[in-house]
Amino acid sequence: MSEHAISVRNLFRYFGTLKAVDGVSFDVPHGSVCGFVGANGAGKTTTMRILATLDYPTMGGAEICGINVVNHPDKVRSLIGWMPDHFGNYEHMTVLEYLDFYARALGYRGAERRARIEEVMGFADLVPLADRLSNKLSKGMTQRLCLGRALIHDPQILIMDEPAAGLDPRARVELKHLIRLLAEEGKTIFISSHILSELGEMCDSLLFINAGRIVHHGDAESLKQGSDAAGGAYYDVQVLGNPQAVSDWVVLNPDVEVAESRKRGSRIRITVNDPEKSAEVLRRMIRDGLQVVEFHREQRNLEDAFIDILGKIEQGNAQAAVLPVTHHG
Ligand code: ATP
Repeated sequence: MSEHAISVRNLFRYFGTLKAVDGVSFDVPHGSVCGFVGANGAGKTTTMRILATLDYPTMGGAEICGINVVNHPDKVRSLIGWMPDHFGNYEHMTVLEYLDFYARALGYRGAERRARIEEVMGFADLVPLADRLSNKLSKGMTQRLCLGRALIHDPQILIMDEPAAGLDPRARVELKHLIRLLAEEGKTIFISSHILSELGEMCDSLLFINAGRIVHHGDAESLKQGSDAAGGAYYDVQVLGNPQAVSDWVVLNPDVEVAESRKRGSRIRITVNDPEKSAEVLRRMIRDGLQVVEFHREQRNLEDAFIDILGKIEQGNAQAAVLPVTHHG
């Protein structure tokens, strides 16, 4: 067996002068769940489309189970299930007809075809929807159908582009449950999302991409803890009266930032992770007349860690921009 389920080496994809993927390398071990995180336009879909053999790299390459995606797309397709972020609908086709169509296209015949369809319909809870028109389903049902379609050939690896986008909380829980079951079966899952907290729960590792470059690859816990020392401390501050008073105060005070405005105050970040510093901040707030009724430490979350990483990159870029130009010659 190849060493990794997914292996990407120095992958570049340019669209004209736009560097959508700019030298990306990473590995995803067999049987693991890897979350692919990044802002809009960071390069997630472009990377995933190359892995799914739907696009070509400008330079560099990628392998699925040791098989090159450019040289052997047919072999790769038989190993992967692809769930795109946009689902192509067919009018006048029921859920059952839709799956049957794909099963035929994948070469399944007779009893084997019926068995595959039955299995994915059972797994993705599509049996009650068998006769519903596939283009008239709710978003959650549509995603389950899309997952069912991706699983017809029982692939070892699933590549899912933003499968939870637009789902209501219940549909999200259902989808998470299905992903967990697939992971328990030993499938490798590469999944992109904006919802970091959810990814953190279900992924063995998280891969952060920003402007076409990987900026972090690690597990969720080490990500939270790793940036804890450098990233300051978070507190929920609630006040009597106008909640805006907290953020107004923060603007005028050094070493403190607003992480998030809240109903009764703000979640603040004290840039130095030291209890004495936090005590000093609270003292200053009270001295300045804020009527603080709650001041308690909150755990750093994945969003905080991601924002820290991006902040450090921006800082690095700004420093590089002011470095004196060295002339040779
Ligand atoms: P989102 O979360 O919004 O889906 P993403 O991380 O998946 O974002 P990509 O879709 O990979 O980002 O896009 C990366 C960049 O490449 C964007 O600036 C996008 O506009 C650009 N891009 C993607 N596909 C094409 C294309 N076919 N032609 C030109 N530019 C493209």
